[in-house]
Amino acid sequence: VPAGPEVAGATPMMAQYIEIKAANPDCLLFYRMGDFYELFFADAETASRALGIVLTKRGKHGGADIPMCGVPVERADDYLNRLIALGHRVAVCEQTEDPAEAKRRGPKSVVRREVVRLVTPGTITEDRLLDPARANLLLAIGRRKLSETAYAYGLAAVDISTGRFALSEVPAQDLSGAISRHDPREIVLSEAIHADPALARLWQETSAAVVPLAQGELEPASAERRIREQYGVSTLDGFGQFTRAEIAAAGAALLYIARTQLAARPTLGVPTREGGGATLAIDAATRANLELTRTLSGERAGSLLATIDRTVTANGARLLAEHLAGPLTDLGRIARRHEAVAHLTEAMALRGGLRDTLARAPDLARALSRVGLGRSGPRDLAAIRDGLDVAVRLGTRLTGAALPDDLAGLAEDLLRADPDLIATLQAALADELPLNRRDGGFVRAGYHPEIDEARTLGQDSRKVIAALQARYAEATGCRTLRIKHNNLLGYFIEVPQSVGEACLKGLMSEFVHRQTMVDAMRFTSVELGELESKISGASDRALALETAVFDDLAARVLARAEGIAAVAEALAGLDVAQSHAELAVELDWRRPVVDDSLAFEIQGGRHPVVEAALRRAGEPFIANDCDLSGDSRGRIRLITGPNMGGKSTFLRQNALIAVLAQIGAFVPAAEARIGRVDRLFSRVGAADDLARGQSTFMVEMVETAAILNQATRRSLVILDEIGRGTATFDGLSIAWACLEHLHEANACRALFATHFHELTALGQRLARLDNATLKVAEHRGEVVFLHEVVSGVAERSYGLQVARLAGLPASVVTRAGAILKGLEKAERERPGRPRIDDLPLFAALAPPPPPEPQAEDRLGPLLDAVDPDALTPREALEVLYRLKRER
Ligand code: ADP
Repeated sequence: VPAGPEVAGATPMMAQYIEIKAANPDCLLFYRMGDFYELFFADAETASRALGIVLTKRGKHGGADIPMCGVPVERADDYLNRLIALGHRVAVCEQTEDPAEAKRRGPKSVVRREVVRLVTPGTITEDRLLDPARANLLLAIGRRKLSETAYAYGLAAVDISTGRFALSEVPAQDLSGAISRHDPREIVLSEAIHADPALARLWQETSAAVVPLAQGELEPASAERRIREQYGVSTLDGFGQFTRAEIAAAGAALLYIARTQLAARPTLGVPTREGGGATLAIDAATRANLELTRTLSGERAGSLLATIDRTVTANGARLLAEHLAGPLTDLGRIARRHEAVAHLTEAMALRGGLRDTLARAPDLARALSRVGLGRSGPRDLAAIRDGLDVAVRLGTRLTGAALPDDLAGLAEDLLRADPDLIATLQAALADELPLNRRDGGFVRAGYHPEIDEARTLGQDSRKVIAALQARYAEATGCRTLRIKHNNLLGYFIEVPQSVGEACLKGLMSEFVHRQTMVDAMRFTSVELGELESKISGASDRALALETAVFDDLAARVLARAEGIAAVAEALAGLDVAQSHAELAVELDWRRPVVDDSLAFEIQGGRHPVVEAALRRAGEPFIANDCDLSGDSRGRIRLITGPNMGGKSTFLRQNALIAVLAQIGAFVPAAEARIGRVDRLFSRVGAADDLARGQSTFMVEMVETAAILNQATRRSLVILDEIGRGTATFDGLSIAWACLEHLHEANACRALFATHFHELTALGQRLARLDNATLKVAEHRGEVVFLHEVVSGVAERSYGLQVARLAGLPASVVTRAGAILKGLEKAERERPGRPRIDDLPLFAALAPPPPPEPQAEDRLGPLLDAVDPDALTPREALEVLYRLKRER
């Protein structure tokens, strides 16, 4: 951080600014000045560039102009949003005393200001800054030593906007996968972890902001103390057993939250422990490759999540994303989710009713969190009122019927909504609500007699003023007399300059003259002064009373925070279950069986995203079966076939079906039986990965190594064109060896797509390897892809046909055809030798024929021979015809 400006020689205000800025060097400082937040010096330059706002100057420092820019407080959220999105952090510095107080201290005194909050990507709570459909996670990472060289990593995932606080521990090799599962906005960790060379790649890869914290602040003892203080407990035992790495992570999270939220302390749910084996492990590359929650280009649209999302609440959408990021492996829990979905697919009327009612539920979790942080407005209380009301209706509707366990549990939680609290909020809050509590007017008439009284006084005063104006006009004979109000004079009497002599005399004798304007004169009277204080007293009083009502309501809400959080979770859970049911009915998805076997039998499977895209284009999707079931070890299918035949689609659809089954959803297949998958791997050969700056082939090999080292018998592996990224023989040999290793050592269920036809010969040697191919029909020399997966080996690759379809110049396609013939002939003439041993590339081929002259070359002589001036019209026409023929 470059040294900031010196305090010496600064004006008192600038001195204050410089001091506060020095304490927050890594943040842009929003310095409150009246109705604006102002930024100075380098901050001003950064912000004006980032926000496209005018850079001006204010005063001088050390003889030079001070650069300045400002944003109106009213619109600060928008600007904050943009700065956060660009990766900046912002310190919000407010005036923390009444300016009058400062004046009393002395003429040169500066209003006291303090940073009240640091706004960072992982700690925001404002609705306008948050994506409703996405959790906003802060992920803290700690670690413990397992041996001299090995560590286990603890993760604390905190969503301040909803109060969720989850702890887990993973081995080093799973850290990357765990980070991508959480998809955090911000990561905090110790400097040591940040500087560990083995992990450097993770911090480069993530889109989250990464914040290292000084080691000294992260001592184990202080981590425990922070947790005890946050929850007001003397021991952590009541929360369950946590590892030292988890406690370190939780401590780092709490430290960072305290540092950014300063005065406010968020109400966080008690830390829950996510068991390591409870979720299907999916590493970062697989997650990206399968486009679970985001496409490869980073958008939600086109992802599996977007395709299956039929939720109607923001809470539900977030939970669905969370489920998709961490599918289950616990058979009981999976079956219970399926049971709930099954019930809702059958109960049509119930589902319709649930959807309609749920759609009216506001974002309870985020409103509750703002109340906890003291950052709420009247509309947050209304959101809690309406959310709880919806919950009671849904809970009542569900109870009494015979329900599967999960739904019965949700119904019970929904009914934890406290009817008294709902009634109080309904009675207290007006129909139309302002955004901020300081605007007042949000307490319903009739709720609080003194507020009503104060308001009546205000309204009555208006009547009194109207009457007064009429009386003054009468008394002075000045019909143009008006009573007006401004902040300087309070209520005053105004007459135009053009008023007659007689009137003026009356005015001067009755009232006190205060101001002469260009075209008007202003007076005050004792009577008006009294009225003034009465009225402003009344509205001040009303506002003070309303604020007290607000605080009382907020306290009542917080007293029930735990129940409200449970209700919010139940609403989300119900929304996700109905979403799965709605989708299943809409697209005829079926209930899968997930059991303890090593089966993988899919009948009539489809790729949900590709199918949706084809449906929009009015084209059918061809369903395909897939059987990878082995007895004690999984089967491998080796898939060859033409490009564009549907290999990748087939591979991915089976992975997606497994994921869907294990999040508890129905699946796009006629039937599916899946032996619980513990880890899912998916790789595509030679993905261009220039961004990472490694050779694409290196990346491919690193990722393949991870699979071969980690896949267990329970795993599902999808490999698409592995080995493509290097020279043919290298690639083929590597693919070959990988296939053998998967078959013998990993013994997992796997789909392996390749363009190395040589590999199909392995089918004879490896007992559990099947060959499959994608069927193609030929029609008058053109290929037609049938997208049907059948047993066997692809007869031809149809590469040339695909090349033609893709628009490769005809001459290139023809030449390629000649080369191919030569290669095939050479092979026939040396029977018995496997292709891999020898590709007689050049020996077999006649040298290429001399290139045909280019069109211009042939047309040149023709044109040279023509003398346009000597041509008859008929000859000219003939030349034209020739030109056209020759081209
Ligand atoms: P490959 O991996 O063999 O090159 P893809 O899986 O990328 O082929 O599929 C190419 C295109 O074929 C897809 O974009 C899709 O439009 C179509 N396709 C693939 N599978 C099917 C299917 N089962 N039914 C209908 N169309 C399909």
